[in-house]
Amino acid sequence: MTNSSTIMLYDNIDSLREACCSARAKGQRVALVPTMGALHRGHLTLIRHARSVADFVVVSIFVNPTQFGPSEDLASYPRTLREDMQGCEQAGADCVFAPTASQMYPDGETTRVHVSGLTDWLCGRSRPGHFDGVATIVSKLFVIVGPCIAVFGRKDYQQLKVIERLVKDMLFDVQVVGVPTVREEDGLALSSRNRYLNPQQRARARSISQGLADAVWLFDKGQRSAGAIRRAVLGRVTEIAAGIDYVQVADAETLVPIGDEETIGERVLVAVAIRVGNARLIDNVVVGQDGVPKGSES
Ligand code: AMP
Repeated sequence: MTNSSTIMLYDNIDSLREACCSARAKGQRVALVPTMGALHRGHLTLIRHARSVADFVVVSIFVNPTQFGPSEDLASYPRTLREDMQGCEQAGADCVFAPTASQMYPDGETTRVHVSGLTDWLCGRSRPGHFDGVATIVSKLFVIVGPCIAVFGRKDYQQLKVIERLVKDMLFDVQVVGVPTVREEDGLALSSRNRYLNPQQRARARSISQGLADAVWLFDKGQRSAGAIRRAVLGRVTEIAAGIDYVQVADAETLVPIGDEETIGERVLVAVAIRVGNARLIDNVVVGQDGVPKGSES
């Protein structure tokens, strides 16, 4: 445990448990904001939200190995704990939990939490096992922290839905809050992986949110063909992508893909996962609910 001015850093499960227990014993509402660090304004917005609804705010910073595939960026994922601590403090967190992998995954561990159905699609397809890693680590964090509120970003829409399902199914007494996506001025969704982009790639990445803006415009003008909406987004991103994992129109609750030939309903997810340079970038809108992504108006 380390005290950096007013914010506490816990690298040990037992001391964090104790701190959370004593907060609850005082009648405080505990909120958890799970992250992998390399914090940006998106993360800080989540922390500020937590601050506004809870008395004791825990930010976890843990690059969770089990949610990375063998050819993914676990080793190169940015680790910036010192700066992250400052951001957490400014955003009003009470403490940061930054455990080691061997604490979170004790020797000989064999347990994974699997949420089925929702994870069959989208990132579940392109990143096999990813959501088992996510559901497992979030379950462990819930057990350690015992939050009454947990805050997640809608940028990772499928993750949010998986966590909502997990909480219902496992009877976790946690209120899950989804915060709207925070974007750069030109509309690009903030992501720790944007650091991988060189200036040319960064400029091109704008096409993702522009594609999603086209989807919103088309829908708001009355377009109800899933194919027309999907092709509009695909048209924007095809040129700039080094690879496309998916551009998908899907049911906003079940995440089941909606075929190009189908007519869509009143609230539908449009989700994108592409590679730009070495970065895998994801973004989404729910047409019929979200406005045009901020910054992507032109
Ligand atoms: P990560 O550190 O990427 O695992 O993200 C930690 C949390 O921050 C997740 O709940 C993400 O959905 C959320 N998050 C990441 N980027 C953004 C963003 N641009 N806007 C809002 N939330 C975000």
